[in-house]
Amino acid sequence: MDRHKESTIPQLQRWTYPYFKGYLRGLKHGEQVLHRMKEMPKSIELNEKWHTMLNNMRNITHQTMLEHHALVWLGKDNIAIQNEYSVGERHKVPGSVIANSKNKMREIGISTFIGDVHSHPRRLGNSWDNVTKKFYYYSNFSAADLYILVRPKPNLFMAVVEGDENTFAFRTSDSIFYNSLDYLEYEEGTNQEKFKKSWYRRRNIETSSDGRYARKIGGGYVSRDNFWEVNRDIARWHKLAIYRGKPNERLNRFFPPQFLYN
Ligand SMILES: [Zn+2]
Repeated sequence: MDRHKESTIPQLQRWTYPYFKGYLRGLKHGEQVLHRMKEMPKSIELNEKWHTMLNNMRNITHQTMLEHHALVWLGKDNIAIQNEYSVGERHKVPGSVIANSKNKMREIGISTFIGDVHSHPRRLGNSWDNVTKKFYYYSNFSAADLYILVRPKPNLFMAVVEGDENTFAFRTSDSIFYNSLDYLEYEEGTNQEKFKKSWYRRRNIETSSDGRYARKIGGGYVSRDNFWEVNRDIARWHKLAIYRGKPNERLNRFFPPQFLYN
């Protein structure tokens, strides 16, 4: 299939849940089913089951102040979401925790995952931590999260629950042609660390080596909007579509913005 031929798929302004479910089901076929950026809708409806799951994860995250993680795969008729969440740390879900979780699912015969959901604990108000005397940073997708969608063997979609928002990010078929990570060559560390440092630095943000706090280079507070700028930068470069929604509401497209594709 020539992915860059003009698609015959009409652009829908809104994906109803059955449409979205069909899209997720298609992801088992891999990258060739991805939509182009311009085919991504303005909004996406989730169903009750999704909202219940996202709300549950939000609540347990608020209570524990720990990140949680759930795998998503295809059930017989439905999209299945792991209901026993893996528990991560306050600022990340270690790769080993996710690997364990996948192994457990493989033991019961589930091996093809189409994406995942994780959560970020966030306090209301600012992010000053009185115990450690540091500013902790919170962004719906960290640069490290978005790396998972652009790395070799990428995830095709990812959802993050944080504060009072649900956010979803999708690879698109355009991502395939923009996924070179060559620009990272001058940074140090793993590719994920390089990716993170590189994109934050472009917005004058530096993070501590353990990735737990962030500040403006030269001093200063990093706002949530600053992190949304980083999300937008990465989405623009790597052609990802990002959506935001309030609990129990539809997701609205954050990137690409309306003026790019109406
Ligand atoms: Zn995250």
